Amino acid sequence: MPEKPKIGFYWCGSCGGCEESVVDLALDLLVVVDAVDIVFFPVGMDFKREDVEALPDGAMAACFINGCIRTSEQEEMSALLRQKSQNLIAYGACATSGGIPGLANQFTKEQILRFVYETSPSTHNEAGVRPQVASQDAGHALTIPALRDRVRALDQVVDVDYYLPGCPPTPELLKNAVLALLNGQLPEKGSVLAPDVALCDQCRRKDTKPTELKYTEFIRPHLVKADPNTCFLAQGIVCMGPSTRSGCGALCIEGNMPCSGCFGATSRVRDQGAKMLSTLAASVTADNRDDAERILAGIPDPVGTFYRYSLPHSLLRGSTANLPKSTRNGGSRP
Ligand code: SF4
Ligand code: SF4
Repeated sequence: MPEKPKIGFYWCGSCGGCEESVVDLALDLLVVVDAVDIVFFPVGMDFKREDVEALPDGAMAACFINGCIRTSEQEEMSALLRQKSQNLIAYGACATSGGIPGLANQFTKEQILRFVYETSPSTHNEAGVRPQVASQDAGHALTIPALRDRVRALDQVVDVDYYLPGCPPTPELLKNAVLALLNGQLPEKGSVLAPDVALCDQCRRKDTKPTELKYTEFIRPHLVKADPNTCFLAQGIVCMGPSTRSGCGALCIEGNMPCSGCFGATSRVRDQGAKMLSTLAASVTADNRDDAERILAGIPDPVGTFYRYSLPHSLLRGSTANLPKSTRNGGSRP
């Protein structure tokens, strides 16, 4: 019997939702499991790092890595899995563009550690003890991974072949990616494995989207019961659909929640957040500065709104371009 293609799944700085989406394949999981040999999947099966190290280089047809890169261990595992895989696939928004953990790049590592271990309201730590990379306990040497200065996307650490966006990607996208891999139908290297059109193009509310936007106020979605058949932008609610890639099936829109942008930008948009920010800011109709500030106060967290999933990859900040070369390791995108 011919050997089945080997594939792996790994999580870095992850909430577990991407791993859950693999399980969400439901009955299709049996199809995938039947067609491939899963050789690494720490969440679901008892494999160790040594098992991966023992594989020949390029032994895996593909490895799907989810989660962002924040620690030395995540760097090491990404490099190891890169070495052992013919195709490395950034799986989910965190691996693709930094994701929600990337919002931490608004703060320095010192600010984060001080808050978490010393000043947060629920912390009692008079001695100011913080985790140490190396320590001793009862005569035993203990080590933990080092926390890096910034959150990075996978391709800011290792070379990535393909991107599967979403928070998390839909099971259908995963199934299609595995089938394309098995059938030798993967597109050119560097491709995002989701349609290259904006979500608005596939949204059933698109006919109610205003051709000209004019805002005298922005409304936060939890403060109103949105009309389920009208474009959110027409209701004064920020929806990232115009600057976000489709492929999710408009799940949030169908749940009467605006798009928050987890599929990232289309190939024609360099900076997802800047594109949406400039579109909306240009549509603010204010008589004076105070009026403009009142209107913009309706978006109290602009970074979390426009860069919720993409700050490490954005033009504004979060790029590794300003970091010393020793902390970078190639990558196909800046
Ligand atoms: S992309 Fe979303 S679901 Fe996946 S690890 Fe990141 S936060 Fe979790
Ligand atoms: S802005 Fe949002 S609600 Fe409006 S058409 Fe686009 S995706 Fe649909």
